[in-house]
Amino acid sequence: MSQQSEPVLFLYDSEQRLQGVLVSPEFWELIKDRVCPLLPAAAPAAVPELPEPLADWETLGAYWDFTYPLSSEVSCGQCGQHSADWQADEPRKFRLRTATLGGLVTFQCQQCKAKIIKRHFKDKVDTETQAHHETKDPKLNACYGPAR
Ligand SMILES: [Zn+2]
Repeated sequence: MSQQSEPVLFLYDSEQRLQGVLVSPEFWELIKDRVCPLLPAAAPAAVPELPEPLADWETLGAYWDFTYPLSSEVSCGQCGQHSADWQADEPRKFRLRTATLGGLVTFQCQQCKAKIIKRHFKDKVDTETQAHHETKDPKLNACYGPAR
């Protein structure tokens, strides 16, 4: 495969039906700016969203014995997004990521992807926002979204 000399390689199955087209890295560099905008808009959503651990949140609420009520209020310290009740928003402004019996609850801001961490202590809540960092290696160019 790495010795591919043809700029375009047509891939057929055993029944001689065309299954795909493989282009060389050199040829891809020439055409990617024209091809990427044509890809379906749904392409970036190829990684399915993880389900929210709502049962963990319910469990935390069921065993709640701190001196203050468990709050459903979430604020993003990065972009200012705010919700008085994160479960009531449609569409969601924040998605629950984790909820532990130890009182650690994390959300993801749906606007800026920041991580909001709420640490519940016996008499107070510490809230921290961590900015989102793209963890994908830019060298592994998968050509999602608008052309770069
Ligand atoms: Zn945000």
